[in-house]
Amino acid sequence: MLTFEHDYKTLPEPLWAACQPTPVETPTLIAFNQTLAHTLGADDIPDDDTLAQWFAGNTLPPGADPVTLGYAGHQFGNFVPQLGDGRALLLGEVIDRQGKRRDIQLKGSGRTPFSRGGDGRSPLGPVLREYLVSEFMAAIGVPTTRALAAVASGEQVRRQLLEPGAVFTRVASSHVRVGTFQFAAARRDEQILKALADYVIKRHYPEAASAADPYLALLEAVAARQAALIARWMSVGFIHGVMNTDNTSVAGETIDYGPCAFMEQFDPRKVFSSIDQGGRYAFENQPGIAQWNLARFAETLLPLMKVQGDEAVEQATEVIQRFSDVFAAEQRTLQADKLGLTANSEQASDLMAGLENQMARGGMDMTATFDALTQYAASLDAQHHDALLSLTSQPDGLTTWLETWQAEMVAGKDSARLDAMRRANPIIIPRNHRVQEAIEAAYKGNYAPFHTLLEVVTNPYDGSTEARRLAAPATSSEQVLRTFC
Ligand code: AMP
Ligand code: MG
Ligand code: MG
Repeated sequence: MLTFEHDYKTLPEPLWAACQPTPVETPTLIAFNQTLAHTLGADDIPDDDTLAQWFAGNTLPPGADPVTLGYAGHQFGNFVPQLGDGRALLLGEVIDRQGKRRDIQLKGSGRTPFSRGGDGRSPLGPVLREYLVSEFMAAIGVPTTRALAAVASGEQVRRQLLEPGAVFTRVASSHVRVGTFQFAAARRDEQILKALADYVIKRHYPEAASAADPYLALLEAVAARQAALIARWMSVGFIHGVMNTDNTSVAGETIDYGPCAFMEQFDPRKVFSSIDQGGRYAFENQPGIAQWNLARFAETLLPLMKVQGDEAVEQATEVIQRFSDVFAAEQRTLQADKLGLTANSEQASDLMAGLENQMARGGMDMTATFDALTQYAASLDAQHHDALLSLTSQPDGLTTWLETWQAEMVAGKDSARLDAMRRANPIIIPRNHRVQEAIEAAYKGNYAPFHTLLEVVTNPYDGSTEARRLAAPATSSEQVLRTFC
C-alpha cells in the first residue's frame, strides 16, 4: 500500500535503534484516514482487518523496518540527556504525491530501549484527542503532524485508572526535534551532530546549504517556522500544554499532542494541563517559550558554525533576539485577517489588543466572538450586531470597540478580505467538552460521537446545524477545566 524508504537510517546509530512493536490482544480499526493515505501515494487500501493488524504493529506493512529514535530534552526547564521514543516506532518514510518525504510512526506500540519505567502504550482517550485535534489543525492550515490511523488494542493500560488501550499512527514531515540536536550535542560527538544538521538541512531547509554559514541559516529558518507556527496557534486559542524542547519539531509542525486544548473564554493566563502546575506553558507564554527552546537549539549548533567562540554566540543571539520581531510580524498578518482589515494593516495589533481586552472583561468565548464578528462584517446589520453583544457581559465597551473597528474594517466591501477573514475564523474548534464527550462514549464502546465530531472539525467553516450544535461553547456545567496526557 505504502512504499517505504529508510533515509533516517543513513544517520549514525545512536540517533536510532532497531526495535520491533509488541503485538496487542485484539486490534480493531477505529479510524483510517483514506484521504491522507491517498496523498501519501496509496491506491490499493486493504481491508479493515489488515489495516488493524498493520497499524497496531501486530504484523508489519510490507517494506516497514521499524526503528525507535533517540532524543534528549528540556522538560519544564530541566535537561534530560536521554529521553527518546519510549512508546513510538518509525516504520519508515514515504514520498508523498507532492514529492515530500513523510515519516510514518506508530505511537503506543510497546516498549523500546527508551521506555525507562513506561509501559510503551497509549490510552484510547489521548489517541482520539490527537486524531481530532491534529486533523482540525490540518483543516485550518496550521502545520501539524497528521492522523493516519487509530486502532483499539483490546488491552487495558494502567494510568490513574485502568483504561482501554489504542495505537495511533501519525505522519510527520520528520520527527527531528530540538531535543534530537540536544541528544547529539550532549554526546559531544561533533560527527553525529554534523550528520544530523546536514540531514535536516537536506530534508527541510535545502536553501540553507548555500548560505554563507549553513548552520546559522538553519537556525534562522527553524526560528522563522516556529514563529509562524506559534502565531497560528495563538490565532485560534490553541494551548499546546507541553512545549518541552523534545516536543518542538525542527520542521515547524505541531507535534506531540498531549494535554493540549483550545481556550474558550479569552484569558491570556489560561492553562489546562494537569501537569503544568506552574503555568510555564500558559497561553500567553508560548512565544517566549518557543524563543527559549530556540536558544537551546542555537546552543547545540554553536560548534558547527563558521565563526567560533564569542562571535558565534553573538550571531546566534542576534537570531534568537530577532524571533520577537519575526513573531510579531506573523501575528500582525493573522490579526489583520481575523479582524477583516487590509492585509498587514498597521492598526491590527492595537485593534486586536482592544478586542482581547473586551473578550477578557466580558467573559467572551474567543471562537464564537470571531465567528460573530465575521458574520457582522459581512452584513453590518442589527441582528448580527445584537448577536455579538449577546456574547459579552460588558456591551458598552464592546459597542465602543466595534465603532473604532468598523472605521478600519474592509471585509464588508472587499470579498478577498472577507474570504481571508472567514478562513482565519473557523466556526468550529474541537472544544474540550466535545472531545471529552467523544472519548467517554468510546470508553463505553460507542464511536459514533467521535466520528461525528471528526467530520465537523475537519470541515470547520461549514455552518450546518449539526456543526453549530457542536460548535457552541460549553455551559458552565459542561466546562472541562483540566486535561491529562
Ligand atoms: P511526552 O511528554 O508524551 O512527549 O513524552 C515524554 C517522554 O516520555 C518521551 O520520551 C516519551 O517517549 C516518554 N513516554 C511517554 N509515555 C510513555 C509510556 N507510556 N511508555 C514509555 N515512554 C513514555
Ligand atoms: Mg514528546
Ligand atoms: Mg507525547
